[in-house]
Amino acid sequence: MSHTHIPPVSAGLRGRCPRCGEGRMFSGFLSVVPRCEACGLDYGFADSADGPAVFVMLIAGFLVAGVALWMEFTYEPPWWAHVLVQGPLIAVVCLPMLRALKGVLIALQYANRAEEGRLEK
Ligand SMILES: [Zn+2]
Repeated sequence: MSHTHIPPVSAGLRGRCPRCGEGRMFSGFLSVVPRCEACGLDYGFADSADGPAVFVMLIAGFLVAGVALWMEFTYEPPWWAHVLVQGPLIAVVCLPMLRALKGVLIALQYANRAEEGRLEK
């Protein structure tokens, strides 16, 4: 199983283990499991810094601001329409992006380190 090549980006996007593609990478919404339940991969290599969060918030901020401006100029809606549309938009756009991006970054870290021979003995 450890010889199967899992594309890191697809494993990361699905939140799956970058080594076996089976086990789940996350235990909570953004908390990474200590080790893979399927193949025992130790996630200690993963840099758990939430750098991507800042990045995603920036993108999402631009997106939401863009939608707000577009709504304002197109429909001139009441204030509550902004709240109604943008609250769910932030949840729908940011949260999955945040998780997917974190998954991809971890999977890429795994791929790099596996290539350097630091993980497989
Ligand atoms: Zn695994």
